[in-house]
Amino acid sequence: FGWFDHVKPAPKDPIIGVTEAFLADSSPNKINLGVGAYRDDEGKPVVLQCVRDAESKIAGSEFLESISAAVSSTFVEESVKLIYGKDSDVIKKRRFAGLLALSGTGACRLFAEFQRHFHPDVPIFLPEPTWSNHHNIWRDAQVPVRSYRYYHPDSKGLNFGAFMDDIKNAPEGSFFLLHPCAHNPTGVDPTDEQWREISNQLMVKHHFPFFDMAYQGFASGDLEEDAKAIRLFLGDGHLVGCAQSFAKNMGLYGHRVGCLSVLGKDQQQAMIVRSQLQRLARAMYSSPPIHGVLLVSTILSDPLLKAAWIEELKVMADRIRSMRASLFDNLEKLNSPLNWDHVVKQVGMFCYSGLNCEQIDQLATDFHIYMTRDGRMSMAGVTTRNVSYIASAMHQVSN
Ligand code: PMP
Repeated sequence: FGWFDHVKPAPKDPIIGVTEAFLADSSPNKINLGVGAYRDDEGKPVVLQCVRDAESKIAGSEFLESISAAVSSTFVEESVKLIYGKDSDVIKKRRFAGLLALSGTGACRLFAEFQRHFHPDVPIFLPEPTWSNHHNIWRDAQVPVRSYRYYHPDSKGLNFGAFMDDIKNAPEGSFFLLHPCAHNPTGVDPTDEQWREISNQLMVKHHFPFFDMAYQGFASGDLEEDAKAIRLFLGDGHLVGCAQSFAKNMGLYGHRVGCLSVLGKDQQQAMIVRSQLQRLARAMYSSPPIHGVLLVSTILSDPLLKAAWIEELKVMADRIRSMRASLFDNLEKLNSPLNWDHVVKQVGMFCYSGLNCEQIDQLATDFHIYMTRDGRMSMAGVTTRNVSYIASAMHQVSN
């Protein structure tokens, strides 16, 4: 029978398309600035030493049964402390409903499912632009998706006025997805003062802030600093939700380790919300694989391993920042007539270069440099060795 004859091929994921084109290029000089995964200055993937040390600590302790209640509560407790602050009222009064999730994507998907069950008609507003998968996640969960204006192509910075207008004009009591630091794909984050105004306006309109924290530590090199927007919202009395990923900041990409937390007005409400999240997760994937969860809970609950992690995270963030500075200096040296200030102003793993589709195609065909067609460059692919080549290619295609 023709059960699946009506199924048409799905549209290609833009990032997978870039990787395929990169792999098909036989040039020895090819450079992939498409992938959002950290690379060292040799262009190699990195396994953090704290992860290797945690591996040896947990060796032999790995059971083939599901995650114990003790491991899962340590994991959740230590994860939420990272975002809300270990001395925060939320932690002290145990007002969080926290659950293991399948990395950041799974945490977003679980929250979307929760929304659909308890607020089926309330839209979620996503920044324009945003990580493209946000659209897929909330669409597939059948939550109405809207956009708010975020980025200004002329200034290559925040379109703050439009952002505030869109908060004001959204139906009262909507969900707003916010990137608390290192916005993907633009690298543009609000200033402290702007965050204050965003928080106020969301409060005035009774909107619910949902933070997608995929890069804590990658913007400034400091976990606390990168959580300051969330802390500010807590100070203003918001109830918030947060998807946390350990993919980037612990280099655990393939392990799929994440945490979803939703705040309740008191401990009792948090427990009720948690019971529902757990029920939803159970029907979708029951529980995540145990190995990555053990690694993260081991690192976060051992003071020495945690201190080592914080150091290694800073090394990664510092390398990215120094590559931004170096790319900028190289472009200046070439006397580029264009303004490249955004290369150093934007933060996190990505630089939203402002290059257009033709220029990006030319980078691929003439220079073997690959990135997504929105002009997003992964700074993790830039190294001491290739930075001047990349700068000169960018200069040549943009003049
Ligand atoms: N949110 C954002 C903004 C991201 O950039 C990513 C990864 N690209 C994710 C969530 C999901 O990451 P993961 O599922 O790998 O943790």
